[in-house]
Amino acid sequence: MSDSPAQAQDLLDRALESGRIHSSYLLAGPSEVVRDAALGFARGLVCIGDGPKPCNACRECMRSKPSEEPVDLDGSGKSGPLYRHIGDHPDLYWVDKGRDGTRVRIGQIRATQKALRFGANEGGYRVAVVADAEWLNHEAQNSLLKLLEEPPDRTCLVLASASSAPLVATIRSRCQKVRFPDSNSGDLRSGDLSEDRAIVLSRFDCIRGNTLPDLLDWAEEYRGSRAKAAEQVEVMLDIGSSWLSEQIKICVSEQQHVVRAQLDAHKTLSQCRKDLVQRNANPQMVAERALLAVRKSVA
Ligand SMILES: [Zn+2]
Repeated sequence: MSDSPAQAQDLLDRALESGRIHSSYLLAGPSEVVRDAALGFARGLVCIGDGPKPCNACRECMRSKPSEEPVDLDGSGKSGPLYRHIGDHPDLYWVDKGRDGTRVRIGQIRATQKALRFGANEGGYRVAVVADAEWLNHEAQNSLLKLLEEPPDRTCLVLASASSAPLVATIRSRCQKVRFPDSNSGDLRSGDLSEDRAIVLSRFDCIRGNTLPDLLDWAEEYRGSRAKAAEQVEVMLDIGSSWLSEQIKICVSEQQHVVRAQLDAHKTLSQCRKDLVQRNANPQMVAERALLAVRKSVA
């Protein structure tokens, strides 16, 4: 169990690092957060690079890089495929309810099951992510259970669910549960977050998995007209500061050196805001400095 999103992510990172992988995971928490975490974990399982996984640099990571506009799935198979690959990696499968779907359907689970047993295998892990798992209907859950009971060798199943409650107990008990909490952390996560803010927040929740090029890419999104970019960077700094405060609260009792690093990062973000607002600094440069400071503080 985990008390914070950061701890939940840490649990997955440590599994990747140690290579001790369960045959199935249930990630429960805010939809975008658990989808991202499941994606990173699946990609990490086939990554062959050094250091934190996914490294985003090795051959496997190149293949598993998610496409910017992934094809929409359709559980009935009429308007889209039942599942897709992550990027174009032959060993990584992704299932969700699709844009218009109201259910993850049994046909999707069966098709994925078949692909897992008979599909290509590049020698490493085969991974299937079932996102929107709270929308698995009863039939589909039963079908999934068979897979959980007799997992093929070197296969990992990752369920990403807004809540574990809609899943039958027999599924829950077979999975390693990783909870990404979303409501016990004070102001940052309670109340109505706009979509933009929620997206930035979920990215900070995953910042541990970001490499330097990831962060530079992120900062590069704040290019273009200054007024708009500056406004977006202000939002990012705002969320980043609250996120750091949350992290500080979490580990204030146990790891003093981490707190020190996070306090420093917090100070850097205040300085960044000043530079942005009062000194007319370049938003992208400010964003780079802020993101690197936050990433360093959670290393
Ligand atoms: Zn890699």
